[in-house]
Amino acid sequence: MVKDWRLLRHTRPTSTSMHLCWFKYRIPRHAFILWLAIKGRLRTMDRLHDRERAKICTLCSLEDETHEHLFFNCRFSHEVWAWITTKHKTPWPNYRWPDLIQWGAITHKSKSLFSSLVARLTLAASVYSIWMERNQRVFKATYRSAPRTAEEAHELLRTYLLGLNLQEAIQDNWFMP
Ligand SMILES: [Zn+2]
Repeated sequence: MVKDWRLLRHTRPTSTSMHLCWFKYRIPRHAFILWLAIKGRLRTMDRLHDRERAKICTLCSLEDETHEHLFFNCRFSHEVWAWITTKHKTPWPNYRWPDLIQWGAITHKSKSLFSSLVARLTLAASVYSIWMERNQRVFKATYRSAPRTAEEAHELLRTYLLGLNLQEAIQDNWFMP
């Protein structure tokens, strides 16, 4: 596992991370935003060619808004991420964004482990909820706290997992941890 990780960590993130986004039980809108975040294609402030506009992160007001800052160096994002991953018992290492994706792609490539499914859904839900909160602040000037953002993402994820057709999951050789 460690050997694989070292070999792959300098490859392009998109080359090994397809299955982090695109898998059978994904939540489509979460998967789409996660895919853009992995490719560095979200319209973050640092990517806008508008010199008049402030590039400061609207979630923490402390640093420039980049993909790497938003996921999950930002104080706000880190709180959301830590809260959700603790709640769903899916520990992720404290790596910078591209390395985190590479690590996740290698560690959670199993299609048969329920824990890998939850880890991937947790990542996508966190990225999605943080990006949505960011958009609410930028475009609608409405604000939620980090705990509130995390709780809403957790509730959505919990409801989704409970609603999964587990019989189908079992037929697909899944098992509960
Ligand atoms: Zn921030």
